[in-house]
This record gives sequence, structure tokens and C-alpha cells, in this order.
Amino acid sequence: MSILVVGSVAFDTVETPFGRAERVLGGSASFFAVAASFFVPVNLVGVVGRDFGEKQLAAFAGRNIDLEGLERTEGLTFLWEGKYSYDLNSRETIRTDLNVFEFFKPRIPASYRSSDVVFLGNIDPVLQREVLEQVSKPRIVACDTMNFWISRKAEELRKTLAKVDVLLVNDAEARELSGEWNIVKAARAIRAMGPHSDEGSFAAPAFPLENVFDPTGAGDTFAGGFLGYLAGAAGPGDQELRRAIIMGSTLASFCVEAFSLDRLLTITRKEIDARFRQFLELTRFSE
Ligand code: AMP
Repeated sequence: MSILVVGSVAFDTVETPFGRAERVLGGSASFFAVAASFFVPVNLVGVVGRDFGEKQLAAFAGRNIDLEGLERTEGLTFLWEGKYSYDLNSRETIRTDLNVFEFFKPRIPASYRSSDVVFLGNIDPVLQREVLEQVSKPRIVACDTMNFWISRKAEELRKTLAKVDVLLVNDAEARELSGEWNIVKAARAIRAMGPHSDEGSFAAPAFPLENVFDPTGAGDTFAGGFLGYLAGAAGPGDQELRRAIIMGSTLASFCVEAFSLDRLLTITRKEIDARFRQFLELTRFSE
């Protein structure tokens, strides 16, 4: 049982109303891998430059994360800088230096090719398909995307979506992709593109926290908790999907409590399970 993740491994500079962090570890694959590794072994495929050193690699050490697929090349690591508004709901990208990520061609090591679950992080949809061509029959294929690819590579994205089981996007991305404002209609339209399941809805709240520090990586951490849980579960039935969504929300709630992966790197499985159970209380009511 293992999960393959392909995505960015980055340096992030982040400013929130509560502080600023310079050149800290980020990237979609980093957040995803640490979150998913609480449940199943993770195979990570990405690229970093020579400036990515032992200090950054230490975040993955001692965890169930295989780094054979993390390529190191000449040049600098992908760098992203963002600034959040006071309510933390919107952010502005100040800088994106693709650096070595610009020429990223995912190469999947032979030992990763039989991974049961595949998460295609937010990269060019053409590359996402190239990853799928290198793996053999995964049980679940999930993918992420963003407005950049939805508007610039719509046709390629459609071809990728035809090959995935689960699409993880936010409401704005779902609206743009489907051309439907209403989220229920948007979900139906997206299901017709490939990501399939029986029609149905499940509402999961964000965990009410006293300290929200930095939302960066929350989406990828949600994906890691969601798919990590599903990879370890017996099957993707309705109840498992619901529990997986709550597990995604649980992991994401830890992610936002500190900058970078700082909080994710200190939590224990016991703390995760305790907060997962708190969700039951949070959403329970009598008729
Ligand atoms: P999220 O907050 O879940 O959207 O993910 C934020 C992470 O995505 C940050 O750690 C960034 O390093 C990374 N990121 C930002 N822009 C891009 C991009 N264009 N391609 C890939 N990763 C990105």
C-alpha cells in the first residue's frame, strides 16, 4: 500500500497579518507528503535545486516518505512569495520564480510504478498525463489544478480529467472549470468530465481554531489527509469517503496553526485521532 505524489517542492516567503516567514519549506508535494505519511508510505516525485539542503530534507527524514524520486539539479529551487489579507481568505502572489521547476519532467522510479494511489499535484495537465502513462493501474487517481491551467490549457486539462477519479479544487476553481456558478451544478458538470462518484453531497466544516496563523498549504494538506486515509481504508465506499474528508479537514486544521510545515512536523497520530473525534461533536445535533 503506497501513495505517489508529484508536485512542487519549494521555498516560500509568506506574509500574514500575524507575521512573516522567509524562504521556509513549502510546495504542494511537501505538504501532501507529510500529511499522507501518517497513514501510508509516500513516494515523492519533484525537483529541487542545489540550494535545497540538509536542513530542508530533514523535514522528510524519519517519516514514511521515499525521496528516490526527488531530483536534484543545477539551479535554484522553485520560490513562491505570497501575502494574505486580514481575513486570510484571499492572498496575493507577490513572486513566482519557477527556477528548476520550469523544466520539470516527472520521471517515476521503477519502484514507484505500482503505487495504489496517485496524487497529481498542481502542474501542467500534460505532465499530469505523462505521470499516469508511467504508472500501472492505480486504485485511485486524484488531481489538483488551478485557474492558470483552467484558463490556459483547458483542452489538455479535459484530457487529464477524463483519466482521474477525484478532483480536489476550491469553489472558485470548480466554477471556472465548469462554467456553472452554482456549486451543485458545477460538481455535476465536473463529474461528467471524468472524476466520478455517485451523486451526493457531504458538508464538512473547517475546525474552529483559536489560532490561525498561515493558510498556505492547507489544500495540499487536506489532500494528503484525505488520500492517505483512503489509501489505508478497505475501499472508497460512502462512509470511507466521508471519514476521509474529515481526516483531510483534520490535517489541514493543524497545517494552518503555524508557518510552513512547522505544526505538521510536530503532531502525533494520537493528536490527529483526537481532533478527528472532535469533529463528531462539532457536527452532532438531535432532531
Ligand atoms: P495551497 O496553499 O494549498 O494552494 O499551496 C501552496 C503551495 O503551493 C506553496 O507552498 C507554494 O510553494 C506552492 N505553489 C504556489 N504556486 C505554485 C505553482 N504555480 N505551481 C506549483 N506550486 C505552487
